[in-house]
Amino acid sequence: MNSMKILIIGGGIIGLAIAIELRRRGTSVTVLSRDFKEAAAHAAAGMLAPQAEAIPSGPMLDLCLHSRSLYPEWIAQLEAITGIQTGYWPCGILAPVYERGGWGDGEMGRWGDGESRREGAGEQGSRGAFFTQHSTLNTQHFLQHSTLNTQHSLLNTTWLDREQIHQFQPGLGSEVVGGWWYPEDAQVDNRALAQALWMAARELGVDICEGVAVEEIDRQHDKVKSVKTSAGEYKADRYVLATGAWSNQLLSVPVYPKKGQMLSVKVPSSDLKQLPLQQVLFGTESYIVPRSDGRIIVGATSEDVGFTPENTPAGIQALLSRAIRLYPQLQDFPIQEFWWGFRPATPDEMPILGESELDNLILATGHYRNGILLAPVTALLLSDLILHQKTAPLLAHFHYSRFDK
Ligand SMILES: Cc1cc2nc3c(=O)[nH]c(=O)nc-3n(C[C@H](O)[C@H](O)[C@H](O)COP(=O)(O)OP(=O)(O)OC[C@H]3O[C@@H](n4cnc5c(N)ncnc54)[C@H](O)[C@@H]3O)c2cc1C
Repeated sequence: MNSMKILIIGGGIIGLAIAIELRRRGTSVTVLSRDFKEAAAHAAAGMLAPQAEAIPSGPMLDLCLHSRSLYPEWIAQLEAITGIQTGYWPCGILAPVYERGGWGDGEMGRWGDGESRREGAGEQGSRGAFFTQHSTLNTQHFLQHSTLNTQHSLLNTTWLDREQIHQFQPGLGSEVVGGWWYPEDAQVDNRALAQALWMAARELGVDICEGVAVEEIDRQHDKVKSVKTSAGEYKADRYVLATGAWSNQLLSVPVYPKKGQMLSVKVPSSDLKQLPLQQVLFGTESYIVPRSDGRIIVGATSEDVGFTPENTPAGIQALLSRAIRLYPQLQDFPIQEFWWGFRPATPDEMPILGESELDNLILATGHYRNGILLAPVTALLLSDLILHQKTAPLLAHFHYSRFDK
């Protein structure tokens, strides 16, 4: 037991994961959570997909792969503490490709959440330009572009040609000409996980203050003196900023919301015994994530519209047409739900982790599209930093100062 008091601002997946790790190491932790329900943690698809995301070799891929490797044990501990099944499923991810993209250029950037990653893999930061020039994708592109192939040769990955992929996954759209199989990518039911994290934090003795919004970080010299909230002033020895897409409202950090619309359908009850999909389909324009209970999550748009809430007809139409193109039989499945959420995006699509310009404030934000995946490694590395001033070499790559250059 140590006597340090930590205050975490934000009780989404990142804030709660850090709170639990610190508490397990004997620290006194309070979480201030404005609204648990608004967290992106509930809106996500739950893919644990460093390979399907085609993150280029480098610190971000290393961080993501490390986190994916921590998942089985992390989940087992959470499930043991809470009794909640989180739907962790190392099902693998299949990433089919089309001969030609075929969708309008202008719309791709706004609505497409699938291929943007893979096409842009070798060109982080220049994705927009890439789209304008190469909006139609062909298989040759994958085979010739070396960044991906180098990555594939180092990691466990298989290329499937047209015949192989249709055999491997019956029911794919006829335009699919091949694809990558990533057997080690996985998924988790992010909503169940969020509940498990909340309950585990409570069980372990984290003080969660739900409905408390931090309004201002009160500074004195180079330190946080206290935080002013909707429920009065809070003080601690150290503070953690984990407010996701809203981080820029409290501190000047380059984090902005990227809206994602989602929907779900359900496998008809006659097919529930033998689910037609047993792995995630990570398509060139959308993804389809089958849960083991028969729900199927379809995502996602990627929109720069600030915090504009709600689903739109255009967003849902784009999701449906792209999902049906990838996996046509989905058109007859009953629709269950529509929802949306805000990813905490950064200019280089990497999280901001570690020290801040204030001595006693740690940053844990900007996890963009990989916050579910990155929760365990974020909690581990930042707890080491907070309690032992231990900066893992990997952590240095995610320091906020990279944006000062
Ligand atoms: C459509 C969509 C699909 C996604 N799919 C995936 C996926 O498949 N895999 C994956 O790994 N990631 C995915 N993500 C990304 C992932 O959901 C996020 O990266 C992750 O949830 C970020 O976690 P967080 O804790 O930083 O933020 P959040 O989960 O958004 O939580 C932030 C919390 O901070 C609180 N807060 C904000 N301001 C204040 C304040 N002033 N005071 C107190 N509390 C405050 C909010 O109320 C909120 O509860 C997806 C996201 C979206 C939107």
